[in-house]
Amino acid sequence: MIVHSAVVVALLAHPPAVKTVAQYTLRVDSADLSGWSVEIRLRTVRDTFRLAMAAHPEYDDRYWRYVKDFTVSTGSFTKVDSAVWQIVAPHGMVMVRYRLALPPAPSPRAAWRPFLTPTGGLVGGPHGFMYLLGAERMPVTVTLDLPASWTIATGLTRTADPHSFTAAGAAALVDSPILAGHLREWRFVENGLSHRVCYWPLPDAVPFDTLAFVSSLRQTVHQALALFGRAPYRQYTFLFEDGAYGALEHRNSVTLGAPSKDLGSDPHALLVETAHEFFHTWNLMAMQPSEYREIDYRAQPPVSSLWFSEGLTMFYADQLLRRAGFQLHDSTRIAHLERLLTSYVNNPAYARFSAEAISRVAYNAAPGALGDYSASTHLQGELIGTALDLVIRDASHGRRSMDDVMRSLFDRGSRIDAASIERAVATVCRCRVTFFFDKYVRNAGTLAFDTYLGLIGLRTTLTSGPAVTNGEPDRDLRIYGWHAEDDSLVHLIVADPTSIWANAGLHSSDGLERLNGVPVTTTSELRSRLLSLRIGDTVRVEVVRPTGPFATTVSIAGYERATVRIDSVPDATAQQRSLRDSWLSPRTDSTAAGFSSEDKSPRSSKPR
Ligand SMILES: [Zn+2]
Repeated sequence: MIVHSAVVVALLAHPPAVKTVAQYTLRVDSADLSGWSVEIRLRTVRDTFRLAMAAHPEYDDRYWRYVKDFTVSTGSFTKVDSAVWQIVAPHGMVMVRYRLALPPAPSPRAAWRPFLTPTGGLVGGPHGFMYLLGAERMPVTVTLDLPASWTIATGLTRTADPHSFTAAGAAALVDSPILAGHLREWRFVENGLSHRVCYWPLPDAVPFDTLAFVSSLRQTVHQALALFGRAPYRQYTFLFEDGAYGALEHRNSVTLGAPSKDLGSDPHALLVETAHEFFHTWNLMAMQPSEYREIDYRAQPPVSSLWFSEGLTMFYADQLLRRAGFQLHDSTRIAHLERLLTSYVNNPAYARFSAEAISRVAYNAAPGALGDYSASTHLQGELIGTALDLVIRDASHGRRSMDDVMRSLFDRGSRIDAASIERAVATVCRCRVTFFFDKYVRNAGTLAFDTYLGLIGLRTTLTSGPAVTNGEPDRDLRIYGWHAEDDSLVHLIVADPTSIWANAGLHSSDGLERLNGVPVTTTSELRSRLLSLRIGDTVRVEVVRPTGPFATTVSIAGYERATVRIDSVPDATAQQRSLRDSWLSPRTDSTAAGFSSEDKSPRSSKPR
């Protein structure tokens, strides 16, 4: 988004322009599914006010680009920013109308992006509703005028009228996308709170075991509520979409891509992802990073604590499912940690960039923001969380754990940053952790994992050798392509500065022109060309840079990879052994399974 600083100052200088009434109507016409129309009925007390499209902090999809036919019933309007419309109209009632013309949807579609089909779609959210600047806390009403056969599922607050909803303010309005259509639906109650599971199937959906699917969600919810003791919501809605990928957390709902073909082969296929997004209801949505704003049309500035918001959410997605007794891909906690540590030690980015530096480029930054390194705030944060958990268990002689830190941060309503996390950890363990936060969070340093595993009588062993898969040497393909939306060129992203690609002089952001003389215009074309290379092949790479063209020849070779194994220290103390036993056997909080369902179909049935 283009925002000139003078415009920002001018916008902020205006006090609230309107009060009392904002009534939204969103209309989908089944005869024209190219988009939807929105009407906002406003009672104004000023003659100048502004409407804006919010930027999502994580995925700023900039749907202000697709607003068409903006009109006002009285007065006039001008666009004062890419995402801001200014209206000048006499006091009183003003009707604002616009159409959201959906861009062509790529296949598969991201679960949080809106879509419309004859059997349903996803509408509203930051992609659909404008909000009134200066009146962000004003409650609003939303009426949905949708095809008659469609059911509605959303985090918006229900009213007696099934087509009318309310939101406590602009942030709740845009953080409550609406899934509507021919939905399947189940409900259950945990801790007295109502949970609704909605599934939108494709017309050719594969049948799956819906009982196992919903029951696993209920057990996940049960474990999260057992950890925190209470929820930041009164009712919660799972919005599952067939034919989509990815997921996005919201304050009292979640949008998740849930291909029925995946659920058909395993009803728990999405469990880890669902547990992750559900945990975000606390750790990210309720416990917000200090840089988060309630709502804004400007892009989210970098966030320093995503290692905690994402990494501890990874940690707890794994923990909640182990506590619920699910069989996970990583059979044991040790196997899980071995896998994470193996990724960690093979990536030089973690020695070079602090957790905060990697956090700051995790959202809304182009790939290549770390130069020829690529890193995961999720992985780094999960390992930091694991180490802190061990420090707390050791210092408290097994009486406390990271669970107490999560509860303390949630109960205090703390804004999340390194200082508040450090304070919470130090309070829980009654120990000093400034050294740890200085060394691994605020500055770059490779986690000395044996120090922390040693507290529970475990240690790592590192072995190195050629990277192999199924007995065959791996080719060094540690490079990939990236395509900016407004750029026709595929840009290279060098994922590791020790790769053959970096050694041949290539760098992240280089604009790719040709491979072996043949132009490459898409990232998938680059991927398939790379996958066709064999060890011993050479490939001529021609790129462009701000300084001019560059060409080099890369010889395809294998590469070295380290593997981490974890085993027991032979002379572990009694405390170490006792801590190890409790760390290895997750505390379980068993639930009486079963759920009240509106779905009367047999156990394995076609999801319609
Ligand atoms: Zn996440």
